[in-house]
Amino acid sequence: MEKIFDEVVQKPDAQFENKLRPSRMSDFVGQEAVKERLLVAVQAAKGRKEPLDHVIFSGPPGLGKTTLAYIIAEAMGAELKTSTGPVIEKPGDLAGILSNIEEGSVLFIDEIHRLNNVVEEYLYSAMEDFRIDVLIDQGPGARSIRLNLPRFTLIGATTRSGLLSAPLRARFEISERLDFYKPEEIKKIITRSSKILSVEIDKEGAKEISFRSRGTPRIANALLKRVRDYAQVKADNKINRDVARTALKLLGIDEKGFDEMDKRILDTIISKFGGGPVGVNTIAVSVGEEPETIEEVYEPYLIQQGFIKRTPSGRKATQIAYAHLDIKPEKNVQENLF
Ligand code: ADP
Repeated sequence: MEKIFDEVVQKPDAQFENKLRPSRMSDFVGQEAVKERLLVAVQAAKGRKEPLDHVIFSGPPGLGKTTLAYIIAEAMGAELKTSTGPVIEKPGDLAGILSNIEEGSVLFIDEIHRLNNVVEEYLYSAMEDFRIDVLIDQGPGARSIRLNLPRFTLIGATTRSGLLSAPLRARFEISERLDFYKPEEIKKIITRSSKILSVEIDKEGAKEISFRSRGTPRIANALLKRVRDYAQVKADNKINRDVARTALKLLGIDEKGFDEMDKRILDTIISKFGGGPVGVNTIAVSVGEEPETIEEVYEPYLIQQGFIKRTPSGRKATQIAYAHLDIKPEKNVQENLF
């Protein structure tokens, strides 16, 4: 059970996600300012009978970037094609995708920060001038052909906006960052999802799950699904506070929504490195996880909740982290705690 967040954040169950994924802006909970700006942009583009400008969504995994891309395509009445950064290896792959899109279509590229430099440069002219020059063959026979593309909308998503190159970032006219959701919003998502999953849940049950969902809809839905299993077998398919608590305890999720890996990260910084500062690579080796996963999946929430701080010399545990693990800081550490 300790890998639950890896499972749900990195390898979502596609069928289950599709079922719970809102298809209209009115069903998309929270992120009010983002929604409003997008709705205005969509309405304006439709009014001009033009494709929407290119959009980039950034933010931690599971917050709704893909969902918004689907909703935008639906609202524009446009066809949606999807791909991900690491899959587009060569300019030819990109040309293949782009030559198959229609006027006004939406192309969604997830993990766009993982596109390689060569492909990325080809994307510039596709985004700006709606054409690409593709080199075919190599050596003396090499020639380039120009592909004129229909006007389309590129929607990119990234969990690491810091890794996006400046020229790529500059080509997105609309840039939106998604933030963690408030417990109240997560509660709404859980209530909506439980209706779709045909499981009864009361307010307290939804609240209990929401506090452990790390402000992340995908985790909320995954926890709900597991609590539902428990309710089905042990509690007449009804979720209340006690049922939710018992099921979540069984899953090893604590009251902050932390799993074993979060606790191990905090414990490493505190017990092995005197509270930090310590570099993310060192933490990664110590907990047996990839540095990228720590940076993308675990750290953002720990930072947002004030458990760790990023400093120029590395990560530091805060007073809240010591308190959560019930560890008393050494005197010299205590004086320098955030
Ligand atoms: P991302 O692309 O940011 O990793 P997704 O768009 O795939 O995240 O969202 C994960 C799941 O969470 C979706 O399938 C959807 O069911 C749910 N979800 C995300 N955001 C919302 C929201 N604002 N309201 C309701 N459900 C949401």
